[in-house]
Amino acid sequence: MRRQLYRAVWMVLCIGVLMVAGGILLAAFLSGMIDDAMQEYLNTRTEEYRNKIYEKMDADYQILDTFSSIVGGAALMEDEEFPKLLDQANYQNDFLTMVYMDASENITAATLDHEVTENETLSNIQPEAREVLERAMEGERSVSPQFQGELSEENVVVYGTPVYQNGEITGALAASGKIDVFQEILDGDTLLEGFGCVSMIDGEGNYILHSGKDQTGQELINVFAEPYFAPEEAAEARKELQENGSLAFSFRYGGDRYRALIQSMGINGWYLFSMMNTRAGSGEIYLMNQVAGTVFIGIILLVLFLMAYGLRMVWKNGKKLNRIAYCDSITGAYNMLRFRQIMEERTKTEKNYSIIALNVHQFKFINEIYGREQGDRVLCCIKEKIEQNLEDREFFCRENADIFYLYSGDTDRDRLERRLKKIMDSVSQAGEGRYGNYQVLMCCGAAIAREGEEEHTLDQMMSHVMLALVRARDVHQNNVWFFDKELHRKELMENYVESHMNQALEDGEFCLYLQPKVALDSRKTAGAEALVRWVRPDGSMIYPDQFIPLFESNGFCVQLDMYMVESVCRQLRAWMDMGTEPVPVSVNQSKRAFYEKDYISRLTGILEKYRIPAELITLEILEGFALENEEEVNSKIRELQKKGFRVSMDDFGSEYSSLNTLGKIRINELKLDRWFLKEAAAGKRSVKVIMEQIIQLAHKLGISTVVEGVETAEDDRMIRELHCGYGQGYYYSRPVSAGDFFERYLKQE
Ligand code: C2E
Ligand code: MG
Ligand code: MG
Repeated sequence: MRRQLYRAVWMVLCIGVLMVAGGILLAAFLSGMIDDAMQEYLNTRTEEYRNKIYEKMDADYQILDTFSSIVGGAALMEDEEFPKLLDQANYQNDFLTMVYMDASENITAATLDHEVTENETLSNIQPEAREVLERAMEGERSVSPQFQGELSEENVVVYGTPVYQNGEITGALAASGKIDVFQEILDGDTLLEGFGCVSMIDGEGNYILHSGKDQTGQELINVFAEPYFAPEEAAEARKELQENGSLAFSFRYGGDRYRALIQSMGINGWYLFSMMNTRAGSGEIYLMNQVAGTVFIGIILLVLFLMAYGLRMVWKNGKKLNRIAYCDSITGAYNMLRFRQIMEERTKTEKNYSIIALNVHQFKFINEIYGREQGDRVLCCIKEKIEQNLEDREFFCRENADIFYLYSGDTDRDRLERRLKKIMDSVSQAGEGRYGNYQVLMCCGAAIAREGEEEHTLDQMMSHVMLALVRARDVHQNNVWFFDKELHRKELMENYVESHMNQALEDGEFCLYLQPKVALDSRKTAGAEALVRWVRPDGSMIYPDQFIPLFESNGFCVQLDMYMVESVCRQLRAWMDMGTEPVPVSVNQSKRAFYEKDYISRLTGILEKYRIPAELITLEILEGFALENEEEVNSKIRELQKKGFRVSMDDFGSEYSSLNTLGKIRINELKLDRWFLKEAAAGKRSVKVIMEQIIQLAHKLGISTVVEGVETAEDDRMIRELHCGYGQGYYYSRPVSAGDFFERYLKQE
């Protein structure tokens, strides 16, 4: 979800950036187009102005040329009336001065105020005019640069043209006019449609004619200066102009942008400098561009706003969905899904951690008696108390009903126990008095994972926590139970045993093992004890300690004991059929089997089936249950003895042993628990004395004696000394399979 949101945010940003970039490109493209169009416009208009100026010059030349051909053709200069003629021509044509110079450099000059000067010499003429006259004498038409005329305060220019007589140059005509005539052209009302101005400048950028309509309104004396050119650009621009004869550029002034063009006029190193305000100049296009730009930016902003709004909605909905997906609706705590996610993430790196399950005792009664609302309040209170006691990096969830899980980096049992008790006690306190006499009690199951110890998957850890919680529920008070590996192993085994016992019995997995009982006087194998072994299909063996107690409590031992009696009888029959002299075999009998109603008939039935004399079978009953109900046990023993069975009291001394017992129960054999040997071997003399007394008493009562757990030669020597009848233990032999037993103790060579 978050990743999708990030992706969406990125997408919106990218689209935004792309749109902005697109907008900028489009704006640049449009403004480039406008610029080009403007430049084109400037070029054309400048050309037009240049042509107009040329036309004006041409007109002046035309007048001079016409006058020159009239003068030359009719040799009017030699006429007396020539000065007058010159004056008239000057006056009619609006020149300031008209001058004729003959080949001897005699000059006749007519000025606007009808003054005619004759016999003027060339040296008295202003240098700019002199140059024009000299060039005309050489046959060249030319115009002078501007200069301050003598008769005018304004700048003037002088045109010069040769005068021909019969094809030969006989003189030169020159006329001066105010340069302002060009100004009129430049200042025309329609000058660049009123958005620009045109000036005339020289090659150095100095103004010759400054347009009165310069939009910058500056008192400028040179073009190669601010605001047209930055000081560092001026030299470069000047060079470019000289090389190319024209220079197009743009500049900014007063917040407006201007396009400008300097174009050579091809006369006297004069240039036309035109410029126009791009905003004003581009008129509708510019406006359109502006509007389009604004609309475009508006659209971008709108799109971005909509996207941002959409994202916000998605984000909000995402949060809501997250809450629904990851939080418990009643308490607002995380739910199991989120808890597992965080846990999985954490345990990738954390190897020391604990998982704790907290549960309310009999929560369903709170719901039933006080209503769901109260139940929910208890849950919220638990959530609050856990939250208040959370430490750094701990987190928790409510799974369902009243189970909360807590993840902690703490693996110290005592500290965890203290903290959890505090949480549970505070929940109990918060509920005090609310539910009458009912006290809210909780229990905790905890599982600890430590680095270096056996590693468990999270699923295993969670099941350990639940197992611990089941144990914790047994105690009706605020308590914590930590998962115990050994206990769990035992529980697993019990579970296996209980779920497989029937099938195992059917499949013959319960096997008969025999341990010899040695007659201490003759050192011969005088009998054997049948001991069951559960051999699993994979060959592994389960020993009686791991299943007999369970079978005793679930009653399966009734079936197993009969099965073992039958196994023994089958084995005896097999040996007898082989012609081997069998030895009596003791079979352990559980209390349950012994008390079965048809116990004796079932036993005799088996014996009959295999045709085994009852004397070969000794039934071992435990000391404990023999004493529970003396009379019933005694009558059953008597019945069994009548049928020929022998009865042995097993593990004598391990529980309520008292010498009285021997007198009360009518047994044939007494098996002293291996506890005696262990204690005696450890040097306890008193134990040895008791053993001796027991053995003597048993003998006096006609009961044969067997000492169990003979493990060493020393044990063997001691029980001999005590005149015990038989010994049984690893010293003689461990329990072995029936086949091995036959091979070792019965087979006659
Ligand atoms: P138990 O009847 O007292 O059997 C003697 C136990 O002591 C056997 O353990 C045997 O292997 C062990 N033992 C023998 N010699 C020595 C020794 O020198 N040192 C030590 N430390 N132990 C020795 P096992 O076979 O594990 O049987 C344990 C108990 O399970 C038996 O104690 C018996 O009470 C019960 N049991 C065995 N098979 C059956 C059966 O088929 N039915 C019933 N109801 N109980 C059985
Ligand atoms: Mg036994
Ligand atoms: Mg025993």
